[in-house]
Amino acid sequence: MLKAMDPRWQEISYEDALSRAHAPIAAILEKALEGAELGFEDGVALGQVEGDDLLALVKVADELRHRTVGDNLTYVVNRNLNFTNVCFVGCAFCGFSRGPKAKDAYFHSTGSLLAKSREAVALGATEVCIQGGLPRDLKGNYYAQLLRDIHAHLPELHLHAFSPMEISYGMEKTGLSLADHLLSLKDAGIGSIPGTAAEILDDEVRGDLSPNKLKVARWIEVIRTAHGLGIPSTSTMMYGHTERPEHWVRHMLLLRDIQKDTGGFTEFVPLGFIHSETRLFRKGHARAGSSFEEDLIVHALARLMLSDWIPNIQVSWVKLGFPGALACLQAGANDFSGTLMEESISKAAGADYGESVLPGELRAMIRTIGRVPAERYTTYKIRRVFHDADADERLPVERMPVAGHVPLGVGY
Ligand code: SF4
Repeated sequence: MLKAMDPRWQEISYEDALSRAHAPIAAILEKALEGAELGFEDGVALGQVEGDDLLALVKVADELRHRTVGDNLTYVVNRNLNFTNVCFVGCAFCGFSRGPKAKDAYFHSTGSLLAKSREAVALGATEVCIQGGLPRDLKGNYYAQLLRDIHAHLPELHLHAFSPMEISYGMEKTGLSLADHLLSLKDAGIGSIPGTAAEILDDEVRGDLSPNKLKVARWIEVIRTAHGLGIPSTSTMMYGHTERPEHWVRHMLLLRDIQKDTGGFTEFVPLGFIHSETRLFRKGHARAGSSFEEDLIVHALARLMLSDWIPNIQVSWVKLGFPGALACLQAGANDFSGTLMEESISKAAGADYGESVLPGELRAMIRTIGRVPAERYTTYKIRRVFHDADADERLPVERMPVAGHVPLGVGY
């Protein structure tokens, strides 16, 4: 297993790692290095590797990352705005939602969301990410009006808002067609859509996780329509619950096919299942989140399956923790996500890696793995590259098991 790998793994070249792998796995990895597109069988084989084969997968994914996007490691200065935790949908994996009468149910006013947005801009943010639960009594025009209110005061701020589930709900509530509803959001200032509510794009798995959630076909319809109207989105996948490697691969192939048609995905973000406060786990219906090896495999596999079409693979430090995120950033990923400033969804499900990180902390961590920090906008346009360390750069040592260099396979 990876934990027993040669501790000098970082000095091992991808060629050396390939020479240690079993021949069938090495052949698939070589195919990827030659630029050939990997298919379902290739992906499933890679999804189950261990030991030296896993080492080879990680090293080849890192090499492909280097060839595709170079050695800049990006992040965005952003803030999450979760406007309400009231939701009727009842997803079994969700620790965030509350009934409307729960003691800790909340619905933030537009005034307070605007104040948080202003505060974020003052702290250097270029994006707010707006998502919430689905309250039964939400007014149909709520989504567009919220965007309009923030956009009117902060026109430079990128509004990354509303999952396909919320878009679908807004469409039902307004009675508009999907395209018209999306156009009304665009007119109100939406810049892009989080590609969340994807979980695993397989209706059988979704039936176990969230039977009331939008079906795969509707998720695809929302995303394709948004892309067609010039509204880009991210793409995500939740793993570490009831799914198997073949589900990961089908999910990635589906995203790849959409991207070939629309070009509208800005990034792919694997999201490890945070289990402890969820009904799905408590009832024994899911495993306890992903293992470290699975985290590496999923990020590396994404690089190999998607690199030519979705070149940006993001880590979620909220789910992985900083050491896990830094490991995955050496296994094919190239984006550290954002500063977040506040985070409610993973925390409510049991994540304890914090809900905010400073830009200088991200940059300091990026340097520990020999890469160059670069702040980006939501769309991956680079805002500035930090070739040299500055006085703001400091490791968040209290949230890392070891200060300084974070070796893969050590400390887990
Ligand atoms: S995941 Fe979203 S839609 Fe599902 S219960 Fe939680 S808040 Fe509601």
